[in-house]
Amino acid sequence: MRVLALDFDGVVCNSAREVFTAAVHTYGCLDPSSRVVQATLTHARPFATELDLSSAPAFTDFTQLMPLGNRAEDYGVALRAMDLGLALPDQGAYDDFYRSFDPSWLQRFHAAFYEVRDRLRADHLESWLALHAGYPPFPSFLERAAARCRLAVATARDAASLDVLLVHLGVAALIPQKSRLDKETGVHKTDHLSALAHRLGVPFDQITFVDDKVNHLERVAPLGVRPVLAGWGHNTPREHARATALGFEVAQLDALDAVLLDGV
Ligand SMILES: [Mg+2]
Repeated sequence: MRVLALDFDGVVCNSAREVFTAAVHTYGCLDPSSRVVQATLTHARPFATELDLSSAPAFTDFTQLMPLGNRAEDYGVALRAMDLGLALPDQGAYDDFYRSFDPSWLQRFHAAFYEVRDRLRADHLESWLALHAGYPPFPSFLERAAARCRLAVATARDAASLDVLLVHLGVAALIPQKSRLDKETGVHKTDHLSALAHRLGVPFDQITFVDDKVNHLERVAPLGVRPVLAGWGHNTPREHARATALGFEVAQLDALDAVLLDGV
């Protein structure tokens, strides 16, 4: 049976508001004088909650940079770029800027981000869950897909929040525990898909992998999996065009079965 492996954030779960909120709080811990952090928290204050910061103007800029990153530390890179007023229009410009960072700062941001996320989830579970939404009609598609193929999740997210969010989105029963590959699996999605192929005993050419980041698809394509860009996720027309130029299919929510289940 073929495998449909799914990235989580931006494919199964719209988590952009939560990511921005956790990232701003994390960045504020490392750089309390940050212009973007101060402006965002000031904007949120009249609403008497700092749990959802996505109404701040900086959220829009952040969502433009999100598709160019890979893991939690990239949120810090994006916020630094915004603080400096840098324009990073494409992957090359972003990667050059990323390489200018001290690796120890990136490690600190990565660790602090998950501490902040854990604290938000533990202290404000219901409000934290409310920052996440599904992508209608993706859950009903997953029900149909589960009858045709094996479903898996390959994510840079931590296992604890993945598990609680799969329940929150009503799809936990469709994704077996052994097919949930979280951030501990490795740095890149090649690690996740290699582990998945091994665990399930399937060759790469039996795996379709859906991610909302083109840079992830570029990395995994040489394995021999079928890479598909999620056209609904944390990405922009810039990523859709790049995926098409690279020969990757772009799936849309109104035609999921035709692209993802055809031939499965
Ligand atoms: Mg994603």
